[in-house]
Parts: sequence; C-alpha cells; structure tokens
Amino acid sequence: MSPELTVSITLICTSAVLNLYLCLYVYLKRKHYTSMAAVFILYSFFSLIYCIGSVFVLMSSTLGEIKFWTAVLYAGLPFSAAMGLLFVMKYLGIHLSKKVSLSLMLVPLITLVMVVTNDSHHFHYRVYELDPVLGAPYVHQEIGVWYIINGLYTFASMLVAFLLVLSRWRETAASYRPQLLSLLVGQLIPMVTAFLYLLGLTPRGIDPVPMVLWLTSLFYLWSVTTSRMFTLMPIAKDVIFNSINDGVMVLDESRRIVEYNAACQNMFPLLDMSMFGKSFAEVWEIFSNGADRFDLERNSVQREVQIHGSGEMVSTYQVRTSKVRDASNREGILLIFTDFTELKQLQSRLEHFAYYDELTGLYNRRAFFEQGEAAFEAAQQQAVPYTVILADIDYFKSINDTYGHAIGDQVLEHVAAVLREQLNGRGLLARYGGEEFVLGLAGITETEGAALAEELRSRLDGQPLQTAEGLISPTASFGVAHADFSETLYQLLNQADKALYAAKEAGRNRVSFAAPLSIK
Ligand code: GH3
Ligand code: MG
Ligand code: MG
Repeated sequence: MSPELTVSITLICTSAVLNLYLCLYVYLKRKHYTSMAAVFILYSFFSLIYCIGSVFVLMSSTLGEIKFWTAVLYAGLPFSAAMGLLFVMKYLGIHLSKKVSLSLMLVPLITLVMVVTNDSHHFHYRVYELDPVLGAPYVHQEIGVWYIINGLYTFASMLVAFLLVLSRWRETAASYRPQLLSLLVGQLIPMVTAFLYLLGLTPRGIDPVPMVLWLTSLFYLWSVTTSRMFTLMPIAKDVIFNSINDGVMVLDESRRIVEYNAACQNMFPLLDMSMFGKSFAEVWEIFSNGADRFDLERNSVQREVQIHGSGEMVSTYQVRTSKVRDASNREGILLIFTDFTELKQLQSRLEHFAYYDELTGLYNRRAFFEQGEAAFEAAQQQAVPYTVILADIDYFKSINDTYGHAIGDQVLEHVAAVLREQLNGRGLLARYGGEEFVLGLAGITETEGAALAEELRSRLDGQPLQTAEGLISPTASFGVAHADFSETLYQLLNQADKALYAAKEAGRNRVSFAAPLSIK
C-alpha cells in the first residue's frame, strides 16, 4: 500500500473514530439534552457511515468491492450533508415541518439508489472502472448527470448551513459566539475541501472530505463538552428571552447595550442590532427624544417613562432596573420595561367618563359643579357678573314615545351639538340631567344672558334634525338666572329651574327669567 493511501486511510479512520465517539457520547447523554441532539446523532451517524465507506473503498482490491463500499459511502455522504443543514436549522431555532425535513432527504435517497443501480443506467458515473495504470483501489471515473446534481445539492446544503450560522453572528451574545464559531468552522472545513476536490486541486481519485472530517468532529466535540451546546444554547435562551412580554435589555459594565429581547424591539422600533455596543444613555436619548431621562444606577427603581411614537401615539412604560453580574463577576444592568400604555389609556378613559357625558360628549353634571363652583367663586371675588341658563327639551318624552329611544338619543346629541356650536366656546356647557342642559356664564350680565338664551332657542328652533324616521324639530325652553352673590350656585340654579318651569307653563319654546331678587 502506498504511503499516500496509508495517510488517507489513517486520517479517515481518525474521522470515523471521532464521529463514532461523538455519536455515542451524545446518544448516551441524550436524556439530558434538548431534542436537537437526535438530529445531531443522525448527522454524526451518517458522517460515520461516509467515513467507513471511504476507508473500505481505499482498502478494496477488486472493482466489485469498490462498488460495494462506494454504495456504503453514499449511504452516508449525501445524508450527512443534509442532516448537517437540518441540525444547524434546529440549533438556530428555524422550525421545519416533518414533511419538509423529510423532503430534504429525497435527493440523498435518490443518489443512493442511483449509485447502487448505476451499472444499469450510468446516470451517476458514466464510466466507473479500475484505473488502468494504478489499479485498485484507484478508479477511473467519468461523472454523470446525477453525480453533478448530488454534488451541487451536497455543496449547497453545507453552504446554506454555513450562511445561516453566519447570519446569526451579530445578534448572538458574545458568550455564545464560540459555539457559533465551532459550527461555522465545522461546516467550512468539509465545504472548502469538497470545493477544492471538485476543482481538481486535491489528489485525483480520492475523496479528501472524510480525511478532514475529524477536524470538524473535534470542533463539535469541543462545543458539546465545553460550551454545553445541547444544554445551554442561544436558541433555548432566545426562546425564553423572547417569549417574555416585558421588554428586557441588558447593559454591560460600561452601560452599553449587549442584549435585548423581541418585546423590547416592539416597544422601541428604532432599536436595531447596530446599537449593540452603544451607550444606553445615547440610545435612550434618541428613543425618548431627550425628554425622559432616568438614573440607571439606582437599583430597582420603578418609574414611568413616556415615548412619543408616530403621530399622536404616546406609549407609557414602567421601567425597573437591577444590577446583574456575569460569569466574570462584571456588573451589568438589567432593564425591564413593562407596557403600561393600555392601562394608562384605560385610566384616562375612566377619567374622561367621570367628567364627560358619554352620549353628547358635553361635560356632565359633576364636572359642571366642580368647574362652575370655582368660576362662580372667582366671579364673586372679582365682582364679575355671573349668569346661568338651564335649557330643557320640549315634549321630549313624546319624541321618545313616537320615534323610539334611539331617535330620542339622536335628538339629544343634536340639541347638544347645536348649543355647543352656537356657543362656540362661550361659557361652561354641560348636560345637567336627562334632557336638560346647563350653561354657566362668567362675565355675562342678565341682559346678555337673556339675549344669549334667546339666540340659542331660536337657533335650535330653526334647525330641525333629519332622522331615519323623518324630520324632527325639537325645541327647548330656557330659564335664565343672574347671580347677586347672596346665593350659592346651587340656589342660583334653582332660580333658573323655576324660570324654566315658567317658560314651560307659558307654552314652551321660550326664554324666561328668574323672579327679581326681592320676591325670591
Ligand atoms: P317637557 O316639555 O315638559 O319638558 O316634557 P318632556 O316630555 O320633555 O319631559 P319629561 O320630564 O316628562 O320627559 C323627559 C324624558 O326624557 C323622560 C326620559 O325617559 C327621557 N330621557 C332622559 N334621558 C334620556 C336619554 O338619555 N335618552 C333618551 N332617549 N331619553 C331620555
Ligand atoms: Mg326635564
Ligand atoms: Mg323636557
């Protein structure tokens, strides 16, 4: 046997032994590992078959033996490459359905059949005979169509796996990069060797790939035993990290961003991978438009920050910070952002409903008294006139009875809208009760108040409402009362109510004044 052959066989045997070891090692420990271990076991098993086939091809002395062991070799080689790709995908958390995973094995399977049955069709090898000069185990071969297809497929599998790992490089935390590096190199070594072989840059007639597989195996062995590839892997961490609803960000001892999860990315759309390594303070300045700074160094501070998004959108987050230590005892910071936006919106909606009437959008009675009383007192102190107007829709009950409650609601909205429009910001307008409205007017005299009430009355009278049930012309009666400040706001409203009653008595759709002070 030539020294060249001896070296080749020795190298391939080394690869075979290492693959066998890897395969058994992971198999025996599979219970402690994640489901990805199963794919890895198959991957190293097929690599092992590939190596065994290759060794025996080189030890064959007849064409028949060579053909047999070549078939064994092909029961490993194409499957190993496809399994390598599957393993990388699983490692990176790229989910493939069972169907797709199995279909990746289709080309390898056809290749195996092609090789076994090559003598009857010559699709894989057009010519496959003993080398006329060197003799066994060297063969003279001319490749067929399927050989090229399989070669491309195998090469593409390795290339895709390599590129996939490479694409994750930047987003992978530094502590997981050695694992990723071993995967990269592990894929690169056979890929480059196969490429050189295809280019004819390695000794003719002997496939050099199994001779370098021991290097790949060594890298994997290191990953599995030292960097706990199957127990602690980026993807498992990613899954947990990214399934947290809170935004989580990790800063290093220099307060630079080293990690963030998917929720964090959703909260701050400007966040991207280029910000790894950037100072948090700088990045936060951009996110918050410089508006909301906070002290990172105070442990467990809970505070709210507001981020202005596109348009009117304002998001509210509660931020908690806590110090964390990494394996090297360096102190980093963990930031947890909890989205309070919905809660805040709910809170402001509740606040809104506490002061506004849902149907008409006007202030409600409570808001009227809160604000009206303050205005009333201010007017009193500043000796400014103060007038109130009460308005009550005429025959509203019969509108309800005739057209139904829904149309009644529309009429209420209509009246509120007409009043608001006509007032155009003058006075404090509120829905006082069912179909009653109140208007508080600081700085308005009795005469001005009466004129305003008349203006409102005639405006409403002249503006019918088109409804599904036809045209409705609601009117209202108005009671006006002017303060001399010997009374409370409440008493003043009572006077306006009496005036309103008088307006109703007098035939409705009119304005009435409170009785003069002397006969109150
Ligand atoms: P008047 O001219 O004397 O004011 O007669 P009216 O029918 O307007 O007065 P009344 O007090 O008898 O009836 C008021 C009606 O308003 C009774 C009530 O069912 C109705 N109402 C109160 N609030 C609402 C509401 O929010 N929507 C609707 N559709 N009706 C309401
Ligand atoms: Mg009423
Ligand atoms: Mg009424």
